[in-house]
Amino acid sequence: MPYQYINELLDLPEIKIVNIEIEEDHAIIELTPVNHTQDCPYCHSTFVKRNGIPYKRDIRHLAAFEKSVDLRIPAICLACNDCYSTFTWEYSFVEPKKRYTKAFSTHLARQTYGATVTYTSMEEQVPYSTIERISKRNLHEKSEEIQEQVYQDAVERENLVLGIL
Ligand SMILES: [Zn+2]
Repeated sequence: MPYQYINELLDLPEIKIVNIEIEEDHAIIELTPVNHTQDCPYCHSTFVKRNGIPYKRDIRHLAAFEKSVDLRIPAICLACNDCYSTFTWEYSFVEPKKRYTKAFSTHLARQTYGATVTYTSMEEQVPYSTIERISKRNLHEKSEEIQEQVYQDAVERENLVLGIL
């Protein structure tokens, strides 16, 4: 268990570390799922078999010790023995086909508060278009959250008076 403590620091219980490559300002942490198979997303069967790993992909994660960090995750092909669907392993910390973990996306969105997209793009070495997309999505989510909260506050308030002008 040479990576036990880093595994704990990483705090992603569904995976374990199999290798770490460290370069001057960059680290690649190679991972594998703890479980051997994953339930079928279509029929929820547990009767699933692995069909191999055609490739691995690098997903940008939160920086550590002033090094940018990529998680190298295997794209594990699975086949359901009940409904015969085939699917790829889904990791809870990254959305399908995304190049950044959810934690890193949240971090990027926070970086843009009070800073420009250009500055954040330069500082985090992430393309301008990516920061812009993440920032817009975050603003949209935040505005929906606030509207919902304001509505709830109004509903829960007693003696609510509607003013008609
Ligand atoms: Zn199935």
